[in-house]
Amino acid sequence: MRRDLGDIWADLTDLVLPVECAGCRQRGPAVRRGFCPACADALEALRPAPARPDPAPPDLPPCHALGPYAGELREALLAYKERGRHGLARPLGALLAEVVAVAVGGAARPVLLVPVPDTAAAARARYGDHLARLARHAGARLRAAGWDVRTARPLRALPRPDSVALDSAGRAAAAESAFRARARAGSGPVGGGRVVVVLDDILTTGATLAAVSRTLRGVGMTPNVAAVLAATQKWRQW
Ligand SMILES: [Zn+2]
Repeated sequence: MRRDLGDIWADLTDLVLPVECAGCRQRGPAVRRGFCPACADALEALRPAPARPDPAPPDLPPCHALGPYAGELREALLAYKERGRHGLARPLGALLAEVVAVAVGGAARPVLLVPVPDTAAAARARYGDHLARLARHAGARLRAAGWDVRTARPLRALPRPDSVALDSAGRAAAAESAFRARARAGSGPVGGGRVVVVLDDILTTGATLAAVSRTLRGVGMTPNVAAVLAATQKWRQW
């Protein structure tokens, strides 16, 4: 599978080349798991906090973010999403797991992780769905800490226009029609009494998470909270 080849290539390049830090782009032998010590420290110093765009769209669940979309976190997300650094899924997934833990109240509870799906075109361009990969690592991290975690992918993303070309009203309209529920597999009650946590990478206007929440509600899976890695500056902490 192309996705697997992409992952293997990312791992190999981390082994054989002087690795570029995903946070500051400096190269050196001290780079471990994609980051130099200073950038790793900066990321570890971030603490998940409630975040909400202002204005917030209706149906946006309570959101937590690891930090603002800036500095090392922004660089790392760009490297992971746009420059094919798939190896960053592990550290970024671990950071996302911290956000999930805070978002659901800190104590280990049965959770259902629902990553926002990539469009098929985006997944092809990135050699795999980038949030599904993050969700796998976040889930593994939580399970290692004793959590009861399941992951579901009940939605698919429909092709949509390039959001860069749209204003915020256009983005909201595009987000509204961006997701469809997959055909139900008849696998029992959705959610199953678990805390449903929607995962995304970047919170901007909240239009995507609100649209995902509405679509999930349509299949009986009401999201309790959302966990994201970064929130753009157009937000306020509660
Ligand atoms: Zn660095």
